[in-house]
Amino acid sequence: MRRNVLRIALALVMMLAIVAGTTTTMTKKVDAACSHPTYAWIPYQAATCTKLKIDLKVCTKCGEILGALVKPVDPNKHTWQRVTVIQQATCTRSGVAFERCAECGKTRETTIPATGHRITTIYRNGHYETYCSICGSPC
Ligand SMILES: [Zn+2]
Ligand SMILES: [Zn+2]
Ligand SMILES: [Zn+2]
Repeated sequence: MRRNVLRIALALVMMLAIVAGTTTTMTKKVDAACSHPTYAWIPYQAATCTKLKIDLKVCTKCGEILGALVKPVDPNKHTWQRVTVIQQATCTRSGVAFERCAECGKTRETTIPATGHRITTIYRNGHYETYCSICGSPC
């Protein structure tokens, strides 16, 4: 009886050791350095007149950054911000705006496109009339 109990206990310990060993091996496999089987190029920074374009090569499995692709600045890609309107656009006439680049400070005058008439229809004097609700001119 006692020998049997000992044998069972020994077998249990051995089983536990095997299970523990297997678990350790599995954990080691997951923790082992990723072989980076697949990767993706992720845009990190867009090119402007002063900023480089940077794309990062990232492993899609573990997320590690594997490399970077840097492209020169795009001298024509300014970040235009409107400073003031020199001349308002109307329905038929284009306007002028003054803009400055938020990156390099370069300035320019740019055209604001004409808005076009906003046509409204009303019923007056027994018939329908269409006119522009902004400038009032008949269309
Ligand atoms: Zn990886
Ligand atoms: Zn600029
Ligand atoms: Zn109009």
